[in-house]
Amino acid sequence: MTGNGQASGKPWQAVALTLFPQMFPGSLGQSLAGQSLAGQALSEARWALESVDIRAFASDKHRTVDDSPCGGGAGMVMRADVVDLAICATQQKTGDLPLVYMTPRGRPLTQSRVRALAEGPGVIVLCGRYEGVDQRVLDAHGVEEISIGDYVLSGGEVAALVLFDACVRLLPGVMGSDVSGDEESFEQGLLEYPLYTRPAEWQGRKVPDVLMSGHHKNIRAWRREQAEAATKDRRPDLWTEYALGPVDKDKT
Ligand code: SAM
Repeated sequence: MTGNGQASGKPWQAVALTLFPQMFPGSLGQSLAGQSLAGQALSEARWALESVDIRAFASDKHRTVDDSPCGGGAGMVMRADVVDLAICATQQKTGDLPLVYMTPRGRPLTQSRVRALAEGPGVIVLCGRYEGVDQRVLDAHGVEEISIGDYVLSGGEVAALVLFDACVRLLPGVMGSDVSGDEESFEQGLLEYPLYTRPAEWQGRKVPDVLMSGHHKNIRAWRREQAEAATKDRRPDLWTEYALGPVDKDKT
């Protein structure tokens, strides 16, 4: 795969707009000998990461970034004017990158969206705190709202790290870039089949005979059966879509 960033000679660019810039690169700074993880790829400039401190754009002496919700209710809301300044200053530096806000109100993150972002020049991710961000600044910038699942985190930084991780592993030379698109979970609309490695028997549990047979056609058929069974059982939503026909990756 060649992302736009790669084609232009620039590394894939990840930018986090956050009240906690020290949370980056976090787990994405890790490297492991023999494996091309995100941290190694970062030091090899296969991708670049910048965290922008939203608080630096507050103008009062207390550096206030939030205020109480209009209409009442619990908690605080991140101010449109402060977030807007952070977005504009960032876009001036980065140029045209997709702009995403991580929020439980967003559309669920999918592997096809991850793949599309990884094939582009990068992404700017706005991380919420408190109860979230004033809707007006999201509307004004046409921000795409993405959720990483049906649960509520205390802030968008962990969600941003999830999005960056999923994208970075698909970049050329990074861990998942040479993984077959046919085999990973979600790529064909199915969950992955179960995995086994040596020893052939562990605590009385055997690796399924077919996987030790060397018969590639039977192995492929068994894996497909297992993937279908797991998807049907665990993800009826995916199964229904899969059963309707082949996934058109360009459409999703
Ligand atoms: N009041 C919000 C709601 O009910 O939808 C939740 C706010 S949450 C405490 C604070 C921030 O965490 C959000 O603005 C968002 O950036 C981030 N966040 C929480 N859960 C998330 C999720 N499932 N996916 C993406 N971001 C999430």
